Amino acid sequence: MLAQTSIGVEWGQINEQAVEWARNYTYDLVTGINGTNRSTLQRLIARAFEEPLTQGELRELLSGTYSPVRAEMIARTEVTRAAVEGERAFVRELERQGVQLTPVHATREDDIVCPICGPRNEQPIERDDQFPPLHPRCRCWVNWETR
Ligand SMILES: [Zn+2]
Repeated sequence: MLAQTSIGVEWGQINEQAVEWARNYTYDLVTGINGTNRSTLQRLIARAFEEPLTQGELRELLSGTYSPVRAEMIARTEVTRAAVEGERAFVRELERQGVQLTPVHATREDDIVCPICGPRNEQPIERDDQFPPLHPRCRCWVNWETR
């Protein structure tokens, strides 16, 4: 989360980047994605950041398209993804202004951290495919450390 760094960050700008990203992302990792449910996800995940919606509100809206179990999974996974990608887009802008930040994986460090994410806790993220979510329902986030 960028808010935890010492640099002055405007949350609104990160949110805008997440909205923008969610509106354009293709959701190809969602099973059974097609033209119709893709545009539903683009609209609803963007709305989750614009309004913002709670997880419960988003789940409710997704349940028009998905079963409760899938609505919950998609709400968690895709909000995490859009939040992380919104931060990454914002950080790319900061980097153009000369600010150097290192992404570091952060888990919740509780009893249910999975075997995929557990070993990644507090490790620097070096590749695109190491950014959370690393799997459906991933609860991890990114801490951005100044270099
Ligand atoms: Zn995770």
